[in-house]
Parts: sequence; C-alpha cells; structure tokens
Amino acid sequence: MDTPYTLIPAEALPEDAVNNVQHLINGEWCGSEGGATFERHSPAHGTLVSRIARGSAAEAEAAIRAARAAFDGGEWAGLSGKERAAFLLNVADLIIENRTRIARLEVLESGKPISQAEAEIEGAADIWRYAAALARTLHGDSHNSLGKDMLAVVLKEPIGVVSIITPWNFPFLIASQKIPFALAAGCTCVVKPSELTPSTTAILGELLMEAGLPAGVVNIVQGFGDPVGNVLTTHEAVDMVSFTGSTQVGKAIEKAAADTLKKVSSELGGKNPQVLFADAYLDSAIDAIVFGIYFNAGECCNSGSRIIVHEDIAEEVTRRVAELSRKVPFGDPLHPDTKVGAIIHQGHQDKIQSYVRDAEAGGAKVELGGAPLEVPGLEGAFFAPTVVSGLTPEMPIAREEVFGPVLAVLTFKTMDEAIALANGASYGLSAGVWSENIHTCLEFSRRVQAGTVWTNTWMDGFAELPFGGVKESGQGRELGRYGLEEFLEVKTVQMRIGRTRAKWV
Ligand code: NAD
Repeated sequence: MDTPYTLIPAEALPEDAVNNVQHLINGEWCGSEGGATFERHSPAHGTLVSRIARGSAAEAEAAIRAARAAFDGGEWAGLSGKERAAFLLNVADLIIENRTRIARLEVLESGKPISQAEAEIEGAADIWRYAAALARTLHGDSHNSLGKDMLAVVLKEPIGVVSIITPWNFPFLIASQKIPFALAAGCTCVVKPSELTPSTTAILGELLMEAGLPAGVVNIVQGFGDPVGNVLTTHEAVDMVSFTGSTQVGKAIEKAAADTLKKVSSELGGKNPQVLFADAYLDSAIDAIVFGIYFNAGECCNSGSRIIVHEDIAEEVTRRVAELSRKVPFGDPLHPDTKVGAIIHQGHQDKIQSYVRDAEAGGAKVELGGAPLEVPGLEGAFFAPTVVSGLTPEMPIAREEVFGPVLAVLTFKTMDEAIALANGASYGLSAGVWSENIHTCLEFSRRVQAGTVWTNTWMDGFAELPFGGVKESGQGRELGRYGLEEFLEVKTVQMRIGRTRAKWV
C-alpha cells in the first residue's frame, strides 16, 4: 500500500561519541558534586547523545554568587559600548565557525531537521551581530527644557544579575535572543538550558570563554527546574528572570519571583490563528498554513496551530491543506531533505495523540493523520501530519497549545466572528490574516490581540523587530530595541545649575 505521507527513512544511526556536558561557573568548567549526571538520548534515533552534570541548589547558588561578584566588580558593565560590541561580533564569528558542530548536536538532542538547525544557528549569529549594534547605540535621554536652572538626564543602566531559563524547542536560538542583549546592556547572567537540550548552550559557553569573556559574566548551570530553576528564580542576589517556556511554568516563576520583587520577562505559549478571508490568495496561504503547522513538528510557540477560514472557502482550503501535507518530508532529521523530524519525547507524543482522540470523541473529523508515524529505520517518536475539522471553539484542541503537527480548522462568516474566534483563546502571541483587501488586513491587525500580526505571510522574523506576547503568552519583549530595554534600569539625574535652589525654610 502506498504511504499517504512523504517519508525519509534513516540510512544509518549516528555513532557519535557521548558528549559530556558540564557547568560553567566563574569561568571554570565543572561537574556536579558527587559526580551526579543524567543522560539525553536522540528522540529520533534512540542513541545516547549526552551525559550531563545534574545541577544542585549549591551549584546554582555558586553560579549566582559568581554573576553577582562579576556585576558588582563592574568590569563588564564598565566597558564602553564599543568594547562590548567588539566582543559580541567576535562571538558571532565563532558561532559561524562552529555551526556544523552546534547544528549536529541540536539535531541529536531536539529531533529537529539538520537544514533547519543550520539556519537557526546562522540566524542566532545574526542576532549577536544585531545586539552589537545596540551596544554601541545605547543611550538615555536628556531634558533641557525644565527651566534655565535645571538640566536632567535619564540614564540607562544594566539591571544587574539575570537568570536566563530556556526551553528545548529552539535551544541555541532562544539563548541567543537573550544572552547577547543582556551582555549588550552590561548585565551578568546565570543560564539554565532545558534538561532535554543542554549541549549547544554549553558550546556557546565555550565560545564565550574563547572570545575572552571575564570569569563570572556568563555562568551556565545544567539540570532541572527543581532544584536549579527554583534557586535561579528565588535567590535574593538575582535582579531579573528572563524565561521562555510553558505558560504553566511561567506562572509558577512569576509567583516564585514575587517574594524578592524581581523583574520577570516571559515568552510563553501560543494558540496562534491564521485567518483566511474569502478573497485570500490561496496558493500562498495554503503553503503558509502547512509551513506554520509542521515547522519544528509544531513544537513551536509561534505554531500556526489553528486556522479560521471563511465558510465559502473552508472545504477547498481543508482539502488543499491535507493534500499538501502529504508532500511534506517527515523523517530522519539528519537527512538534508527532511523538513519535519521527531517529537521531543514519547510522553509528549502521547499528549499530542490524546488531543486528537478527545476531539474525535467530541465529534470532530480527522481529515488527515491523527496517529504516530512509522519511519523506516527509526524507532523514535514521530507524529503524522494531522488536520482536524468540524470543531467547536470550546474544544481543547481548538484553544490549548497541542505543541505538535496538529492543525485545528474553524470557520467564520463575518469579520466580527473571525475576531471573536481569534481573540477567544487565553493566549496572544501571534496571529495572521490572509486577504487581498488592505482594509480587511488593517482592521484585523488592529483588532486582534497578539504581540505579532502577519498579513499575507507567516512567521517571518527579523532581529530588528520586537517579539513577545500579550495575555497568557507572556510579558515583555525580545529582539529589536525593546529586547535591549528589558535588561535596562532607568535612573533619573536632576541637576541644578548654579546656587539657584529656593530655600524651603
Ligand atoms: P517548560 O516550561 O517545561 O520548561 C522551560 C524551562 O523551564 C526548562 O529549562 C525547565 O527546566 C525550566 N523549569 C521547569 N520548571 C521550572 C521551575 N519551577 N522553575 C524554574 N524553571 C523551571 O517548557 P518546555 O516544555 O521546555 O518548552 C515548551 C514551551 O515553551 C511551550 O509552551 C512553548 O510555547 C514555550 N515557548 C515559548 C516561546 C516564546 O517565545 N513565546 C518560545 C519557545 C517556546
């Protein structure tokens, strides 16, 4: 029987040596107390990839103390913007020199396809370059119209010690959306990558050391939310937490950080709608829908995981999306032609499947997929491209983050209905609108609740443009000039000119 999907089988399993991953604390690489470690296997191939130091509370504290001392010592914050920029540019060059090694480990730990991993590493290097430009142009404000006797300046100062906690879906890229901005601002940090994808952040640590970063400015502690993440979000010596991950953990971090009133910036989940009006240019929209849902196997905060389609075109759109879905190459992430790789782990695969089962039990129609995918030569977790229609907006599959290659199809008649559906989820990360009518696009863009709106496109991204969410998709922004502002504190200096102060008594 012909397979209804396009599959890329494994030619051979990777035979890499096991990668030993350590902590970077105060410029020194070290293992955990008592030699405690854990392992990461490739979610696609099943092979052992990494053995990782299992961080303890004491190691997290040591890293925070190192970051605190490095900040308070003033060596990094005291450099000129030009000097910090030169360092960031140097790191960007080292990332490019090491991209093959970084990309391969990213694939083996995350299951994402190699072509995508390489593009992400190059995109990350570009962000380090962009942050260098910000470091040189960072400045505050001056106030010269407060009266002839007053001059005031508003200084921008680094916020201090930042805990940076990252997820597994874009490990190197997300670390690069945070660390260079914190460094450009003059902050010091303690970084905890996801326990599922630790290696490429450790490589970044190597590159930072090679580029000559002073000890303690960036520290990396490997391990789990408990205990490492807990210490990083509650310790009194930390000034700010920059977190990317699930909304559930984001809420817990907000609460944990409240006792010490740390600033928290968070990039959380999404249930991002692409809305197709009846006059949409479908050749482009259909491709963008397929890209939006299968990119990174749907394990993407920006996944276009629901489409809201005008009822006049809903049948055609659903049929054409299902047809194109069959042509997307799923399979061995190490093969250069693969576009969709493995699901991060079996437990997550089961969760994806349960969303589809529940929808089906509730009366939805599975137009395509809905089950794990067998890829010849691989025993890892893969999930078939899946399209589900006949939904009501209340169903979990239509409003919760499935985080898999599962597209939910909803329909509408009027602009008001489309807006109500788009804004009906608790998330507000991104949204898209497809129409040939500029007025339709503008009205939708202004009324939709989202941090980013794409009109007649999906998931374009630029280092220059701020990214982040509203509602339960998080607080604060990354990238762009706003991405730097997050790591800055404002200090107002008011200066009297001459002995002009009027006496109070
Ligand atoms: P997660 O929330 O489970 O874990 C994220 C990180 O937090 C990991 O490093 C984890 O070890 C750590 N952590 C777990 N519990 C913690 C605690 N109590 N205190 C401190 N740290 C803790 O998320 P995940 O499964 O790794 O990533 C997937 C989620 O990330 C999805 O919801 C996705 O939408 C979101 N995400 C959002 C963006 C964005 O920019 N908005 C980008 C990528 C991923």
